[in-house]
Amino acid sequence: MKAVRLESIGSMTMRNVENPVARPGELLVRVLAAGICGSDRHMYKGEYPTARPVTLGHEFCGIVEDVGDDVTGFAGGELVTVDPNIACGRCYACTRGRPNLCEGLIAIGVTRDGGFADYVAVPCAQAFTLPADLNPVHGAFCEPLACCLHAIDKAGIHPGDSVAILGGGVIGLLMVQLARLAGASEVILLTRQLTRRQTALHLGATHAFDPTASDAVAAVRDVTHGGADVVIECAGVPETMQTGLRMARRGGTFVLFGVTPAGVEVPVLPFDLLVNEIDIRPAYLNPFTHSRAAAMVASGALELDLLVTRTIGLEEVAGVVGSAPLPGEIKVIVRP
Ligand SMILES: [Zn+2]
Ligand SMILES: [Zn+2]
Repeated sequence: MKAVRLESIGSMTMRNVENPVARPGELLVRVLAAGICGSDRHMYKGEYPTARPVTLGHEFCGIVEDVGDDVTGFAGGELVTVDPNIACGRCYACTRGRPNLCEGLIAIGVTRDGGFADYVAVPCAQAFTLPADLNPVHGAFCEPLACCLHAIDKAGIHPGDSVAILGGGVIGLLMVQLARLAGASEVILLTRQLTRRQTALHLGATHAFDPTASDAVAAVRDVTHGGADVVIECAGVPETMQTGLRMARRGGTFVLFGVTPAGVEVPVLPFDLLVNEIDIRPAYLNPFTHSRAAAMVASGALELDLLVTRTIGLEEVAGVVGSAPLPGEIKVIVRP
């Protein structure tokens, strides 16, 4: 079969490799759709640790082709989405109910072979069944959506709240929809690209601002009459950390979601954070949210087709992951 392998930092190649097999407790999944993620670009550049060589691709959906020994609940032929994060179940964090902080976390498409391939073997406990007639491209959104749901849980949005979202990529545009579904009365998206601002307004944002064109902090404080109840940072750059913290209302919540490259420091004003009691909540990965993400995707509650800006084959993956996103790009989907 074909698989796109990260062989060393900055080197990714499509290779012919042996088909994986479903070992005891595993499913063999034929990949129908896989999303390219900002994290894949971080991994390519060595900004996020991975195994090497490894087949990347942690956002995928496919058909169960074979079932290993000791598997219950799957017969073969099911459409499944896979939670890529495999917690050990025994470390301190796992035994305290926080598997995303597992000290021995293994991740499909990061530290073991993933979905930029014709087939991938996965532990059956990581797989969740989707309706057989669901568009597999929608199924590929379950993984990023599950991470967003963890952030939305942490955000604690109440009906009538104002929510500011920094970053207009696929995550920011999913957050816009989730904030509306959570009952936010004002949803403000901040992103530089006009097309993404237009998409956000179409998806239910009440305002969309270009942070480079005007004073974004003042604009958010103006439309929210003093600051957003909830700010969700989805861009992962120092500027959005700093401006996002200043957009929060006194007593507001700031959710840290974007991945800033390891080692980057950001100056903040602790006095302001203290006297305004800004509640800073990081949201990392997808603890116990993948099945809810699958249910939401299956329900059709989210507009996903608008987020797919390009569909490619395996032969184009290395080129896309190895270069910066094109202007207007939201989600690139791989169909092996
Ligand atoms: Zn991802
Ligand atoms: Zn653990």
